[in-house]
Amino acid sequence: MQKQILIIGGGVAGLAAGCYALMNGYRATIFEMHNLPGGLCTAWERKGYLFDGCIHYLFGSGEGQPFYDLWLELGAVQGRLMINHTEYQRITDGEHTLIVYCNPDQLQDHLCQISPQDAPLIKQFCEGVRQFTRFDLSALYRKPRQLMNAADWREFGMKMMPYLIPMTRWGTLSAGEFAARFQHPFLKRAFAHMFSWEEAPVMMGMALLAYMHTITTPASRAVVHWLLPRRSKDASSGWVAKSSTKPRWKKSWSKTIKP
Ligand SMILES: Cc1cc2nc3c(=O)[nH]c(=O)nc-3n(C[C@H](O)[C@H](O)[C@H](O)COP(=O)(O)OP(=O)(O)OC[C@H]3O[C@@H](n4cnc5c(N)ncnc54)[C@H](O)[C@@H]3O)c2cc1C
Repeated sequence: MQKQILIIGGGVAGLAAGCYALMNGYRATIFEMHNLPGGLCTAWERKGYLFDGCIHYLFGSGEGQPFYDLWLELGAVQGRLMINHTEYQRITDGEHTLIVYCNPDQLQDHLCQISPQDAPLIKQFCEGVRQFTRFDLSALYRKPRQLMNAADWREFGMKMMPYLIPMTRWGTLSAGEFAARFQHPFLKRAFAHMFSWEEAPVMMGMALLAYMHTITTPASRAVVHWLLPRRSKDASSGWVAKSSTKPRWKKSWSKTIKP
């Protein structure tokens, strides 16, 4: 008799678990309490507007990147147009504008132009981004800890070793704390908002820029947007999955902070 798996929740994790269950010969049933699948990763239409409640960036949209294999297996990336962003976002107070370039060299030059007196701090930050461009984030998720054997742990340890110092240094420092070290009043405020919330660890922002930078390098042709099926309301049959082939993108997000 075919083995069966019952999955509670039809978010991305539940849907992916269902796909992998089928690929491994199981019969899978997903129970979703909402009337739509997708969970937090969802979009909806209202009065002619499409609201995307979730995806801003997607790890693993670049061919050759470790997470890409996962999306490929799930059938999420085939035939999708991807857009690479060279800027993460822009923050302005009306007088100054911080352009958060994904390329650490470009970001360093730009930040130093805004505030030459903060150059040592800026270099530390950009060097952190450079370090994380070599960091394989998927190593943290590749295999459940409970299933790892001694060889897996050894491989994991070897991969993590070079990053122990940067992870300890930047993983425990919040964007707000780091921002407070700047002398330039605009950067002092803007840096705290750079990765959405002040409590976010600096390492999170560094890793994000590093990932976005590696997929915009010529070696890969990848993108960071609109990977998951769009959903739109069909008047006759309710909600249907719809793949977006049309690129809808903005160069970067912008945020205004009060002068
Ligand atoms: C505003 C926002 C922006 C985001 N932006 C990004 C982004 O840019 N990039 C990125 O990678 N991630 C982003 N995320 C995070 C990402 O959306 C989530 O990590 C991911 O969707 C979580 O998927 P999940 O399946 O683990 O959980 P969920 O999406 O929470 O799915 C859980 C599902 O289980 C169902 N459920 C719960 N309890 C029961 C029950 N008892 N019975 C039946 N069904 C049940 C729920 O209805 C839901 O559908 C964002 C999240 C938010 C909210």
